[in-house]
Amino acid sequence: MMTFMEYPQPIEHLIEQLRKLPSIGYKSAERLAFSLIDWEGKELNDLSEALNNIKRSLHFCEECGAMLHQENCRFCTESRDSSCLCVVAGAKDIYLFEQTGEFKGLYHVLGSLLSPLAQKTPPQERIDSLKERIEKREVKEVILAMDATLEGDATALYIKKELALIDLPISRLALGIPMGSSLDYIDGGTLARAFSGRRVLG
Ligand SMILES: [Zn+2]
Repeated sequence: MMTFMEYPQPIEHLIEQLRKLPSIGYKSAERLAFSLIDWEGKELNDLSEALNNIKRSLHFCEECGAMLHQENCRFCTESRDSSCLCVVAGAKDIYLFEQTGEFKGLYHVLGSLLSPLAQKTPPQERIDSLKERIEKREVKEVILAMDATLEGDATALYIKKELALIDLPISRLALGIPMGSSLDYIDGGTLARAFSGRRVLG
């Protein structure tokens, strides 16, 4: 019988930490750990400093939920077209839509999607602040820009219900986005077409 030989504890520990990253299995984590062992001390210090800083130096815009460093939120300025508000799942998605150059309106980060399987709903305070912002900034149209997945669909339906008492068109970005796909894997051109081809939810 073959016995499994473990690496020295600090290496195993590093592998375990790296495995927590998305789509990193044991083999990939092992490869990353050994490549880190070869790094110079200065490079390793820079990496650990970047990791330490990531939570400390980032904060989120209280209005839209975008990630900020020290600056004021550029997605909430007066120069943005407040007639249109795009609801996204995560703060990262904002950058995806900005890259298309197609959208000049406001954003609203939900924080998380509704997951019927995990019995998870978007944070209620984000839904409340969405309603407040629609009123305050006189938004004329809401665009729901979630992944074309089961969770994305469930979330879109949930928000539509939450906004039922507010009289404004709610459209969904889904055209051109293949069913079951994550927004992350969609190129800018497809996303831009999805914006112009959005359809109002009936
Ligand atoms: Zn903002």
